[in-house]
Amino acid sequence: MTKGFLIDMDGVIYSGNELIPGADTFIVELKRRKLPFLFLTNNSQRTPRDVVNKLAGLGIEAEEENVFTSAMATGWFLARQKPYGSAYVLGEGGLLTSLHENGYSLVTQDPDFVVVGEGRNFTLEMVNNAVEMILSGAKLIATNLDPSPKKKGWTNLGIKAIVSMLEEATGVKAFSVGKPSPVMMRVARKKLGLATVDTTIIGDTMDTDILGGIQVGYQTILTLTGVSKKENLHKYAFSPDLVVHGLMDLDLDEWLKDSNPAKIKAESKNGVNGVLAKLAS
Ligand SMILES: [Mg+2]
Repeated sequence: MTKGFLIDMDGVIYSGNELIPGADTFIVELKRRKLPFLFLTNNSQRTPRDVVNKLAGLGIEAEEENVFTSAMATGWFLARQKPYGSAYVLGEGGLLTSLHENGYSLVTQDPDFVVVGEGRNFTLEMVNNAVEMILSGAKLIATNLDPSPKKKGWTNLGIKAIVSMLEEATGVKAFSVGKPSPVMMRVARKKLGLATVDTTIIGDTMDTDILGGIQVGYQTILTLTGVSKKENLHKYAFSPDLVVHGLMDLDLDEWLKDSNPAKIKAESKNGVNGVLAKLAS
């Protein structure tokens, strides 16, 4: 069976507006080998076209069908929970587009769902409206629960912060669709037509990319070019199959050859320390 990749973007392909070295050549190599891949992002703000444009600006050629966002996963999920339902949205372009495409009406009264995505345009008044709606029975959905990195200059508040406000004000817990939710992980794989065992997720964040991959049985590669740092990996009760400094250091031949689950397991039986030892050698 063909092997394929789900690839996180922020922290793997780029950092802010900077290309991470090796990401462009890695994608070119996947295309040359005709290996299926999907860019997988929790950011719900952008449409697939926006993502393609951003990648083009960094020198990476991609098509809209190579992109899967938490906004797309949320639209897919809601259409199956309640076909042709209605939503009140705290969010922007990518999320609004996806809900529309999945047959949803965007309303300002009596919605079936309150849906929260990244955004800078909603007001406290809108948050108050959402609280009223949830207290009246609307279900609370988050496109993801990414935390803020809590560092200066970071312009994205992180949906977890917004959702916490709504949860606190209503006593209702949100359901999150994006990584690490198996909903998004599984739909992404189905989109590529891959078998679970042939799917590898590459990401920079233990709590989303790697946890999500492990929960659904994919192989996992952590890059150290983003959120998760080598010195913190021991705090997790789970380990990725492989840790690399960045995509530049990922030996595709070796990975494809190695991506026999039994072999991986044997090699990394010492957990992440074993993997790191391999990385250092
Ligand atoms: Mg990331």
